[in-house]
Amino acid sequence: MSQAQTSAGHADKADIFCKDEARVDWHSKALWLLRQKRDRAAAAVPEWEELRTLGSEIKLHTLTHLPQYLEQFEANCQKNGIIVHWAKDGDEHNRIVHEILSQHQVKKLVKSKSMLTEECHLNPYLESKGIEVIDTDLGERIIQLNKQPPSHIVVPAIHLKKEEVGQLFHEKIGTEAGASDPTYLTRAARAHLREQFLTADAGMTGVNMGIAEEGAIVVCTNEGNADMGCNLPKLTLHSMGIDKLIPNKAAASVLLRTLARNAIGQLITTYSSFYHGPKPGGEMHIIIVDNGRSEMLQDKLLAESLKCIRCGGCMNTCPVYRRSGGYSYNYFIPGPIGIAVGSKHDDTNTIPWACTLCGSCTYVCPTKVPLHNIIAYQRRLKAEAGKLPYGKAGYMPMVGKVMSSPTLLNCAMSVARFSLRYLPGSLLKPFAGAWGKYRELPKAPASSFEAWYKKNRSK
Ligand code: SF4
Repeated sequence: MSQAQTSAGHADKADIFCKDEARVDWHSKALWLLRQKRDRAAAAVPEWEELRTLGSEIKLHTLTHLPQYLEQFEANCQKNGIIVHWAKDGDEHNRIVHEILSQHQVKKLVKSKSMLTEECHLNPYLESKGIEVIDTDLGERIIQLNKQPPSHIVVPAIHLKKEEVGQLFHEKIGTEAGASDPTYLTRAARAHLREQFLTADAGMTGVNMGIAEEGAIVVCTNEGNADMGCNLPKLTLHSMGIDKLIPNKAAASVLLRTLARNAIGQLITTYSSFYHGPKPGGEMHIIIVDNGRSEMLQDKLLAESLKCIRCGGCMNTCPVYRRSGGYSYNYFIPGPIGIAVGSKHDDTNTIPWACTLCGSCTYVCPTKVPLHNIIAYQRRLKAEAGKLPYGKAGYMPMVGKVMSSPTLLNCAMSVARFSLRYLPGSLLKPFAGAWGKYRELPKAPASSFEAWYKKNRSK
């Protein structure tokens, strides 16, 4: 399960995950269960589609008026006694965080889930400076103890079986050998984390939404861990991407209604906390990070990916993600939204093809991010940059020529039908590449679609 450490392409990493068929089966089933719960939760809200439209419009409006809202947010935060910092990239973000922590002689930091700190590689940076970082979300703590990055943005340890978690906890926090009961393991984790909260010098969280009109942030967790981390130590830090901004509380109420429903079918995240300022005698810092987002905003289609509220719904429904696992994507965010925002960073240039373009992700997205269009566009960007993965650069122009000529296409289809009918699968499968490895070749239809159509429909 250490695919994340290698630099192989998506299909090769998926191949490692697919070797354990039983794991692939329950991974797919577990995520599909979340998709089903999401469907039931969405169907129970008559104005669901209206909420999606509103969510999309709120995010798009804020993104297209970002400078004014960022200024308003900063001014209102300062009025509330919050110290605001600006970071152009991950390195600057990490330096700012370290500076604040060193000024307060922090030795232990408790952190609640933040994909932005993953994006900035904060944990290894702080650890290299001698600061202990404890992730406090249960799933995050599990993978931190297992020395792995998250494999999903909402359920980061979804790839691990309860027996594996039991063994890990036995080794790292001293639970009974062989124990795999989720209640027992959760209780043990809670006691272990309570100890961490009580002995931490500072708390840090991500930000689900920054409210410009209020100078406040919203942090959502189901375990209350962000609240423990924010209320016990006097010093708190919050990392926020510029895309997390929204105008006001009314906008937050719309997004909060869809976030948890779309993630796991829950009515609302259990702890949806609004932080307006430091606790008495304490200090609260917000670090606002760009890290490539302004550049994405310059491209009309890529800008739409910044509407994402990180619900994870697109991963749960994606047939490729469910069967290839989160570590096959060469980016810290996997699945459809990972491809949309991470393709640029994928040196293997393979992740835009980790998609069937079925559009299921776009269908479920609560802020109407046009994911499959963005993914198709990412393929085009790779082709235009001369970065098509090995093989595709050679045959895709040929495929284009064949597809654009009815005569060539009909000839090619006749050859394919003949081959499928008369040649052995073992001879044909290598031509299907990674796609054919885990699939049976289709049966050849009796005639071409064109012939069928002429006979049955064109009267
Ligand atoms: S792109 Fe949409 S569905 Fe996917 S995580 Fe973001 S908000 Fe959720």
